Amino acid sequence: MAKIVLVLYDDPVDGYPKSYARDDLPKIDHYPDFQTLPTPKAIDFKEGTLLGSVSGELGLRKYLEGLGHTLIVTSDKEGPDSELDRHLHDAEIVISQPFWPAYLTAERIAKAPKLKLALTAGIGSDHVDLDAAIKHGVTVAEVTFCNSISVAEHVVMMILGLVRNYIPSYQWVIKGGWNIADCVTRSYDVEGMHVGTVAAGRIGLAVLRRLKPFDMHLHYFDRHRLPDSVEKELNLIWHPTVEDMVKVCDVVTLNCPLHPETVNLFDEAMLSKMKRGAYLVNTARGLLVDRDAVVRALESGQLAGYAGDVWYPQPAPADHPWRTMPHHGMTSHISGTSLSAQTRYAAGTREILECYFEGRPMRDEYLIVDAGKLAGVGARSYSVTKA
Ligand code: NDP
Repeated sequence: MAKIVLVLYDDPVDGYPKSYARDDLPKIDHYPDFQTLPTPKAIDFKEGTLLGSVSGELGLRKYLEGLGHTLIVTSDKEGPDSELDRHLHDAEIVISQPFWPAYLTAERIAKAPKLKLALTAGIGSDHVDLDAAIKHGVTVAEVTFCNSISVAEHVVMMILGLVRNYIPSYQWVIKGGWNIADCVTRSYDVEGMHVGTVAAGRIGLAVLRRLKPFDMHLHYFDRHRLPDSVEKELNLIWHPTVEDMVKVCDVVTLNCPLHPETVNLFDEAMLSKMKRGAYLVNTARGLLVDRDAVVRALESGQLAGYAGDVWYPQPAPADHPWRTMPHHGMTSHISGTSLSAQTRYAAGTREILECYFEGRPMRDEYLIVDAGKLAGVGARSYSVTKA
């Protein structure tokens, strides 16, 4: 029988919810590219409830214990005395979400001789050392597409929030003021602006589609070009390099995975190539940008605003400079874990576990690493340093 370690974020400070703001979720049949939503044989949770925190358990306990397995659920994941570390020696499966990642470093993987599956309940498996997973024969899988649209909506919200100066204007209301001039001296329309995405995968393309009705000019950089028909439909401008794109954009949004090719992509040099007063939105991964260079760019006015919800490490320390830098609109990695998204990725996690325990193949699009190499979506979108 297997031991499964499930690392989840803490419950709300006031305790696990007894009721919710809404009674149901809209029914979605398929994703925009016609990939089907997760298809587990059954689920043991109510859709639209909090599943990603420790008491929610991704709705997995009944299923796993019913098969005779041991399920450990914890939010304690940092350091050698953490509950995660204490269970690594005989864990067969480790599941975590990118919002509260169980960092499966090479050292941790070496301490987990029975580990067979590192499962991301969400998208983005950069918290797993993929080189080490390849070396130790660990399969890495994630629930592709489960929260891509959730993030795309968050990106659009953040672009509008920054450009229109929403957060400071809201704060004037809370403070009891009616300070119109204070609010609008940094407020613009997005109409007519040039927006570019680094990567036009599931999220990047969804962002472009959502911004089209705002009459923005749409740009993208990606290693693979989109089909002609999509470029024409959205009137997209493709750029051969990131540098080429950023110098013409008022707004840049990052939507690529974190891997050796993309680490620190937005360093001081790249930020200096952007238009003065550009906005940068990063909901992809914190390490895509140079933390301190972003702070300096905001202080100097090179960037007019920075928003996103990804940090490194996560959770970010209380003194992280992005909490206090000027003109930011940060959130604490929530974009992909709306209650809507949780329902999808909890079901996708169950689907992957059913495949694993029944000896059936997982969907190719869920695989990042398998059989000692990059596989599935991982083979297309990731790179490793020494595979
Ligand atoms: P997809 O796999 O659909 O898209 C990723 C895209 O990135 C692909 O088009 C890929 O290009 C492109 N890409 C990979 N490497 C590079 C590179 N070096 N330069 C430019 N483009 C590159 O994934 P999603 O759109 O669903 O998600 C993207 C990322 O967003 C995730 O990996 C994750 O890090 C982050 N994310 C964040 C979430 C949050 O809650 N904030 C939730 C979900 C995802 P190609 O395939 O053409 O090689």
